[in-house]
Amino acid sequence: MFLTGAAVTRVEEFLQALHDRYQSLRDGQLASYIPELAKANPDWLGISVVTLDGRSFEVGDIAQKFTIQSISKVFVYGMALEDHGREALLKKVGVEPTGDPFNSLIRLDMDSKRPDNPMINAGAIATTSLLKGQNPTERLNRMLAMFERYIGHEVFIDVPVFMSERATGHRNRAMAHLMFNFGMVTGDVDEALDLYFQQCSLLVTGHDLAVMAATLANGGINPVTGERALDEHYVQDVISVMLTCGMYDYSGEWTYRVGMPAKSGVGGGITAVVPGKLGIGTFSPPLDAKGNSYRGIRVCESLARDFGLHLFNVAKADRDLEEWLTGSGADSW
Ligand code: GLN
Repeated sequence: MFLTGAAVTRVEEFLQALHDRYQSLRDGQLASYIPELAKANPDWLGISVVTLDGRSFEVGDIAQKFTIQSISKVFVYGMALEDHGREALLKKVGVEPTGDPFNSLIRLDMDSKRPDNPMINAGAIATTSLLKGQNPTERLNRMLAMFERYIGHEVFIDVPVFMSERATGHRNRAMAHLMFNFGMVTGDVDEALDLYFQQCSLLVTGHDLAVMAATLANGGINPVTGERALDEHYVQDVISVMLTCGMYDYSGEWTYRVGMPAKSGVGGGITAVVPGKLGIGTFSPPLDAKGNSYRGIRVCESLARDFGLHLFNVAKADRDLEEWLTGSGADSW
């Protein structure tokens, strides 16, 4: 598909209009329970769309680095699936949405003792504790190499954020120890927590999040580098859990309104997958009460509605995505 310069401008003009509409919103709060995150600029807003032939359409603060936070859980879950297989992993971490906040530990002491899903902190910490490697350095290096395949360039950890989480993450520590007690976290608990805090402190941009989503949308192959990031057999597992659990206790309403498998993080990022079509990355630090980016939700909702990207949309969208990407769409919008 050949793209003319004018077409790039039209899609980006559309994104710019979205950006301008939502940038002035003043709702939401910066995450402050991790002290370093409260230093973010609440005005930042970046929107990136990456197609499966590797093109990017983006506006705003798209090169601003921030920590990936809970979005990392998606990709670490994929790695744990590769390390252990579906059935073995299901014995340790379920795939049921909870309707509970991301940091809830209330259900851990019930029934199977297994965390409900890998997108809440408890399930993510259990998942991280399962990653293979001879020692902490090897586990960290394997994890960073995995992220690099999705992102397509070298990645770094924000050390002050890592130290901030490590010093203040008492709730996460409590969960990890409770799960260790039940045998759902094995090995050294503090090492598992360090690796979890490191994965959350990975630095990314809104563009990176769109490439990562596009990689999942593309069956596990990074559309920019052509490198495989995830075994094709596990792509549907990962995307399914994003749809049912990725936005925590907003996952139901998100699926209803937006209808894209997605994951948010308290750093302000959202990564959203439109399977077989494209990846979306948004970045805006102020969060709603559930810990999801306030502006990011609205941007994704507009994109879903205007381009008919909701998974279950059988009606025609206001704008035809293919026509817009190829520059042949009607001018009026
Ligand atoms: N590192 C954060 C925590 O463990 C991640 C939470 C999030 O992004 N929702 O609390």
